[in-house]
Amino acid sequence: MSDAVEQAWGWPPLRRGLVGEVPYGAPQLDVPIQLNVNENPYGPSAEIAGDLAKAIAEITGTLNRYPDREFTQLRKRLANYLGHGLEPAQIWAANGSNEVMLQILQAFGGPGRTCVSFAPTYSMYPEYARDALTTWVVGTRNDDFSLDLDHARAVIEEHRPSVVLLPSPNNPTGTALDPQAVSELCRLLDHPDRPGVLVIDEAYGEFRRAGTPSAIESLSKHRNLIVTRTMSKAFAMAGVRLGYLAAAPELIDALRIVRLPYHLSAVTQAVACVALDHAPELLARVDELRRERDATVHWLGEKGFEVAQSDANYVLFGLFEDRHVVWQGLLDRGVLIRETGPAGWLRVSIGTPAEMAAFKDALLEVTGG
Ligand SMILES: *Cc1c(COP(=O)(O)O)cnc(C)c1O
Repeated sequence: MSDAVEQAWGWPPLRRGLVGEVPYGAPQLDVPIQLNVNENPYGPSAEIAGDLAKAIAEITGTLNRYPDREFTQLRKRLANYLGHGLEPAQIWAANGSNEVMLQILQAFGGPGRTCVSFAPTYSMYPEYARDALTTWVVGTRNDDFSLDLDHARAVIEEHRPSVVLLPSPNNPTGTALDPQAVSELCRLLDHPDRPGVLVIDEAYGEFRRAGTPSAIESLSKHRNLIVTRTMSKAFAMAGVRLGYLAAAPELIDALRIVRLPYHLSAVTQAVACVALDHAPELLARVDELRRERDATVHWLGEKGFEVAQSDANYVLFGLFEDRHVVWQGLLDRGVLIRETGPAGWLRVSIGTPAEMAAFKDALLEVTGG
């Protein structure tokens, strides 16, 4: 018997594509300064926390019932929040944009189909493809981490993917995508025989620098464009698990086929609605975080580190001969950052000014700067 067959019937009886795989996850360590998963460091105010508690209290008496399967109220609020004349029929949501992304691949990927992205990029993408039994093809980026459009065109023409996943800003590099590229790739993917969708993952869209447009502006021009967002980052609601997307209604209808029944709990819907009602307050610190990000990029450059320009709430920097030693040195000083991205680079999320000061002190100590 061949090895592959034997492995496929080991114990537990994991399917072949999962044998030897390990669960994804950044270390969740109890340290004072956590700058590793791009959360917003500012929690909700006492007033917002009170409103959230009230909204939950109001629905507890009806928790014997299933929630609104179509999350009507929440969709209205999300459409309203995104603006650009979007209608609730163009909105979809799930438990984090991770679930949204998996549903996209369940609906539009599958056996015999291919999903494409360009590395370095979000490390979860190949896992969604694996879980949706979709072939994963990854191209490359330019040295400055921008998208190489000629290369992207060639990869798409060769593999004819049904899904292309592109984050803008890209994680872990912080690089935003040129809107020209969005339009061009949409046209290229809208092939008469083998059409595909382009997913622009704007998990960090609210942090982009002035003058960087959102792909939401291009939605009306392309039937195959999907723009995903999340409440986990700028919105400071990572604990709620609410991701969403905007696209043409026919794509939303396709996602409805694969969603689990009542996938968004009544508690999630109620909490997300209240959070959206408080959008201006919850997003109030975004400008401060963008300034802190720009200052961090500047400081790292000044100290002689390599640093990638960033439109997000994190910064990729290096280059270290042994990045693990630097990561561990920071952790030993109570600062948790992320060991991710191309060899030699590390990523730091933008925290409060006090947290960033601690990060800088620890980094200089560790690197002898
Ligand atoms: C954090 C992140 C997400 C969001 O994940 P949620 O499931 O919404 O918390 C999506 N895409 C990228 C690139 C991210 O970094």
